[in-house]
Amino acid sequence: MVRKIKKKDKEKTIEFSKILSQLRKGTTVSECLWNEDDCDNTIVNAHSIQNNRYLNKISENGKIYSLKFGITEEYDLMWNFEETGRNTFSTFKGFCKKHDKELFQPIEDRDYRYLKEQNFLFAFRALAREYHVKKESVNNFVKLLDELKNNSNFLEYSLKKGFFEHALNLDKITLEVYEGEFLKLKEQIKDKNYNGINTLTLKLDEEYPIVCNSTFIPYKTNELEDVFSKEDYDRIQIGELNPSLFLNIFPEDGGTVILISYLEEYKNYLEKYLKTFEKIDEIELKKRISTMVVQYCENVGFSPKYMREKFTEDEIEKIKKVYSENITNTLYMSGTEINLFK
Ligand SMILES: [Zn+2]
Repeated sequence: MVRKIKKKDKEKTIEFSKILSQLRKGTTVSECLWNEDDCDNTIVNAHSIQNNRYLNKISENGKIYSLKFGITEEYDLMWNFEETGRNTFSTFKGFCKKHDKELFQPIEDRDYRYLKEQNFLFAFRALAREYHVKKESVNNFVKLLDELKNNSNFLEYSLKKGFFEHALNLDKITLEVYEGEFLKLKEQIKDKNYNGINTLTLKLDEEYPIVCNSTFIPYKTNELEDVFSKEDYDRIQIGELNPSLFLNIFPEDGGTVILISYLEEYKNYLEKYLKTFEKIDEIELKKRISTMVVQYCENVGFSPKYMREKFTEDEIEKIKKVYSENITNTLYMSGTEINLFK
């Protein structure tokens, strides 16, 4: 299902960029998710990862090594790596100028000090970004189905229609869940009550040039065991439960901070799994976090120099493969033990 496009295969890349930009026309969402009467008229390219604090630190000539989602000319979905300018990497048009500034001041303008408010905001921003991504994704799939219907032959349409319709339905369910959670957390921020989100704070002793801001449901443990019961798994699929984790990684003060957050109401579903992150040595922790990132988080950036010097082409191909396989199979586990922290 997943086709790879080689970086050097210029013709295909151009073709695929054309399809992508054509598809995205009219499907982008530009609005303030906070949505209050005092909203600014200007919707900004809000950074989900602090530009001046962390992207500045890990970029090389202003570039970040990051993932890009694409569609081949055969309407297959895939992930590729590319270098993105740090001013556009990890941005989304999901807040007005005023609210982007006001809401995230405690993590934008102040050093990270393990405060509950800061942990809450890191997680909230991951949710806001994914909420915005889902809004656009729903629009994209609607348009994609339309294009597929008009531009492909009957056989191709019949073969792919089912997959895209399924993806669209899943996205619609997730969108509704995110909307509910966003509104709930918004009220908590207004009340300055930060007890709705719990955070497991971890730190690696070395500063690695890696940043991540993402939310996902951890279906499998590192040992490939199910995190949830069959019954809970089914409830997750229909949007009744959303035991998501919010993962933030950033270099700070000579170390690398890892924040794993979750909503208090899902504590019982995730506690056992998260316990496995405590009392393990640094090598094991690096392995677990790496798996988590490659398995579930696409909003991740690396220093280009770091990737060039520490990873072989083969390893980078492996990482891309796991991402691409996960598009069609969220339970896909590579089994390849990739360590991102070298
Ligand atoms: Zn606003």
